[in-house]
Amino acid sequence: MKVLVNGAAGKMGREVLKAVHNDTELTLVGGVDPSHGGKDVSEFMGTSPLDCKIYSQLEEAIEAVHPDVIVDFTTPAIIFENAKLMLTKGIHVVIGTTGLTEAQRQELDSIGRAHYANCLVAPNFSLGAVMMMKTAAELAPYFPDVEIIELHHNHKYDAPSGTAVLTAKLINDAKQKANVKAAEDLTRESLPGARGAKVDDVTIHSVRLPGYVAHQEVIFGGYDETLVIRHDSLSRLSFMPGVVLACKKIKDFAGLTYGLEHYL
Ligand code: NAP
Repeated sequence: MKVLVNGAAGKMGREVLKAVHNDTELTLVGGVDPSHGGKDVSEFMGTSPLDCKIYSQLEEAIEAVHPDVIVDFTTPAIIFENAKLMLTKGIHVVIGTTGLTEAQRQELDSIGRAHYANCLVAPNFSLGAVMMMKTAAELAPYFPDVEIIELHHNHKYDAPSGTAVLTAKLINDAKQKANVKAAEDLTRESLPGARGAKVDDVTIHSVRLPGYVAHQEVIFGGYDETLVIRHDSLSRLSFMPGVVLACKKIKDFAGLTYGLEHYL
């Protein structure tokens, strides 16, 4: 599989360049990043020159290297338009960039199917985080009172995190299936926002501080007991096995898939 990395000079993009280059089944064919067109990818990988370019324009890169898969870690503001372009060109797309709405994902699914191009949107590529979400959904019918605290570095653009929203969705689905609900929240806020944001029956609190990478606690309250699942991504390397796996499997999953758990 020939892989192009969109957002190649970013914090995630640089790790993806290295992970793809180091994998024996994948071939790194280039990167895209508007401020770094013309440079060799090795400048962002700490290796000797690889004769593999960064392009400033996505379309230009696609025409030049004809990738089978594009991995996208860019910004929420541009991901939808870029994803439409990539799928229309018949290229599979692995998306880590957050911010796509459900309606946008549905539209991308239709575009992808029409052009035989598959798309994975994964709010979290870390295998531990995927397991945290699965476990949270399994526990939810037994512990319907649950809140999420997600903690990220202070340069993250969006809140709450895509992982927290997906965790809440999986918990809500499991609770609905088991026909259980959280107890009524009797607290009245004296400061707006003090009780966090609601995704249906689950409350999410977002912490943004320097020092953090990506962390999440799912806290279940029970009868005189609490149960906490915590996941910590200690560096961006934690996302790489999931990204590499996604590049290899994407050709087998038609349309748009939401969440890496479907590929495991
Ligand atoms: P980052 O360091 O800001 O990197 C984003 C890169 O994209 C920058 O180099 C930026 O260039 C570049 N860019 C901006 N516009 C572009 C365009 N039109 N075409 C190509 N590249 C463009 O951010 P990051 O920490 O790597 O995170 C990127 C995204 O991934 C965020 O949405 C983040 O929430 C998400 N994320 C997801 C996961 C997951 O597991 N799913 C994990 C970590 C992060 P400039 O700096 O020149 O603007």
